[in-house]
Amino acid sequence: MDIQVVREMCTGCGECEQACPFGQIAVVDQKAKILDSCVSCGACRDVCQPGAIDLSPFLDNENPSPDAYRDIFVFAELREGELRECSLELLGEGRRLADKLHQELAAVVFGDDPSGLCRPLISHGADRVYMVDDANLGFYRTETYTALLTAIVTRYRPSILLLSATTTGRDLAPRLAARLGTGLTADCTSLEIEEETGVLLQNLPAWGGKMMAEIKTPDHRPQMATVRPHVMRKQEPDPDREGEVIEIPVQINPRGIPVKRLKVVKEEQPTTSIEQAEIVVAGGRGLQGPEQFAIIEELADVLGAAVGASRAAVDEGWTSHLCQVGQTGKTVRPKIYVACGISGAIQHCIGMEGSGTIVAINKDREAPIMRIADYALVGDLFQIVPALIQAVRTKRRRN
Ligand code: FAD
Repeated sequence: MDIQVVREMCTGCGECEQACPFGQIAVVDQKAKILDSCVSCGACRDVCQPGAIDLSPFLDNENPSPDAYRDIFVFAELREGELRECSLELLGEGRRLADKLHQELAAVVFGDDPSGLCRPLISHGADRVYMVDDANLGFYRTETYTALLTAIVTRYRPSILLLSATTTGRDLAPRLAARLGTGLTADCTSLEIEEETGVLLQNLPAWGGKMMAEIKTPDHRPQMATVRPHVMRKQEPDPDREGEVIEIPVQINPRGIPVKRLKVVKEEQPTTSIEQAEIVVAGGRGLQGPEQFAIIEELADVLGAAVGASRAAVDEGWTSHLCQVGQTGKTVRPKIYVACGISGAIQHCIGMEGSGTIVAINKDREAPIMRIADYALVGDLFQIVPALIQAVRTKRRRN
């Protein structure tokens, strides 16, 4: 048994029994007892006030040298039962890194009947899929997912574990890293393998984007990173790719899940998803107010584009945070990006510089955005944008 109860310290309070998501700890004769199918997730230790749960045998066994770890695991996220695009992008990147290391790539997927998703995960690059199927996994809950992923990582020992830097990934990864006693590099924008050592190089902008940081985890495993959605390219699926599906049986104890879902309240989404749109029209502080921001929406409307915004415009409350482009917003790669009254701070540019054609409208010809623009229109946006709207409408009418 990896986990032990120090009987002298156990008060028999039953907190651990309540907390175990797998029903693998029971209070017998006023002392906690670990049952046979314990997965060593450590959830009991986290709630044990007297500190009676001893994980040291587990840690001694499970912290061997980095050489004992192999392969790359990608955590595949679902939304409403469907695979998220960012997870497929991550698989594409995982495949590239695994090929470099001559190792295998595995996807880990949790859900309420996710079996239909294993095939797409394989065709997008996975050699193996670890699947956990349980009605209690239909939507993300921190404690349960952390416990399960801890158990899987400690059992299969991946050398690298990648998650998307989504709301879920940003919630899950730090907790998981703390449980596993390893490091985590959050919000990476690129990954590489160090030639001499095979160690993962985890790159991300630092100091407000003024420099790139290269971070390594040389001594601890797995090497964990979250990766920003939309910065990696997804691979074309190969329907003939072969892979193995390993179903991990669990008995999730709903009593051990402290968070209950009462109802889902969905935030109103912009009509066109900014990340998928071919054209994005974005507005910044130069719009000067919420009423004026409407001309951005109007231009987007006539162009069939999605609305984007700088953080300044979002912080002012002129538009939804779902529209924010940049370091703390979305990363977009449309065919055309029109930046109106946006100065082009590095934190903004990180999120849009991969766009096909950049059009910037700014009255300051020295604004940084003008340097990366393919078309820099110098002038007052309150004259240029209405003129553009008019021109598009006129052209449409003629056609
Ligand atoms: P400003 O910098 O104030 O620029 C306004 C521009 O409008 C100016 O260039 C001006 O010349 C022009 N203008 C004014 N009036 C007119 C007019 N009538 N016609 C034409 N042009 C006009 N920012 C983001 O956008 N996204 C992020 O994700 C993000 N994350 C950040 C994370 C961190 C940790 C930090 C520190 C900052 C972050 N920022 C982010 C903020 C960023 O540094 C800038 O402050 C922000 O992008 C500025 O927004 P802006 O360009 O709209 O405003």
